[in-house]
Amino acid sequence: MPAQLIDGTAIAAKVRAQVAAEIESRVAAGKSRPGLATVLVGDNSASETYVRSKRKASGEAGIESFGFELPKTASQKEVEDLVAQLNADPKVHGILVQLPLPDGLNEERVLEKVSLEKDVDGFHPVNIGRLSMKGREPVFVPCTPAGCMVLLEEAGAQFKGANAVVLGRSNIVGLPAAMLLLHRDCTITVCHSRTKDLAAVCRAADILIAAVGRAEMVKRDWVKPGALVIDVGINRVPDATKKSGSRLVGDVAFEEVKEVAGAITPVPGGVGPMTIAMLLKNTLRGAELADAKL
Ligand code: NAP
Repeated sequence: MPAQLIDGTAIAAKVRAQVAAEIESRVAAGKSRPGLATVLVGDNSASETYVRSKRKASGEAGIESFGFELPKTASQKEVEDLVAQLNADPKVHGILVQLPLPDGLNEERVLEKVSLEKDVDGFHPVNIGRLSMKGREPVFVPCTPAGCMVLLEEAGAQFKGANAVVLGRSNIVGLPAAMLLLHRDCTITVCHSRTKDLAAVCRAADILIAAVGRAEMVKRDWVKPGALVIDVGINRVPDATKKSGSRLVGDVAFEEVKEVAGAITPVPGGVGPMTIAMLLKNTLRGAELADAKL
């Protein structure tokens, strides 16, 4: 029985439409238009593409977009000064510093400078810290893992007591995803490059989130029949049938895993669109937090 397809593009469109409607009604009520500042340092082409999509989606949702580009030779102080300037700007309700930063820049120090109330990426150590503690609430939850949770909800996940396995422990995906699942009363296992017998660990999962960056690593026999599978991976593999000579695949061998999973996200069209939708939602929240301070 093939899996239910979790259509991230359609679910993200729904979230984006809700955000756009809320923005129009708050602006009509005389409140500020949410503003998102995106900071791109250097010339990483993948980062340029991501930032372009985020700026375009912001505009479409009625968010004012403020784009900043610094050369890869920018100093630590120049990047931190820009963040400080954006922290102080009342038209900016969210600050996104696109990662990775070029070599030589200290990412941790830059992220620490972002105001907690404008940290729409949710990467400030205080936000991550609160996410990791019982009974605490972060101001913002990182967009990709937050999007994974929405996809799981839409797929009808029964979180309480479920065995959830997260493949990957990065600060931006794996770790926060595990914390979100724990908050929903899942029993979590977090895997990484030193985990022994990954296949056996994954086979115990009712919910499996793959965020490793290894093309089609998760095979059919790694997946428990009926499990919900969220594929965060974005990997480019050669494909002579494509004009570009390549195509995108996830961390899950989609064609074979869809035969056993209960529900599965495709790549592309799964987690990617949700990441952007959650960023827009977080930016709206940033504007609401600023209202509350007036
Ligand atoms: P990352 O920082 O490179 O982390 C990868 C994680 O996977 C690490 O914890 C690593 O373990 C683990 N890992 C690597 N190889 C492994 C293996 N063979 N077996 C078990 N674990 C392994 O990557 P990331 O930033 O989390 O991103 C993961 C993937 O998601 C990438 O493909 C990325 O492009 C994609 N992504 C997608 C979105 C989206 O919006 N769709 C957003 C962010 C990222 P160690 O910790 O031991 O090294």
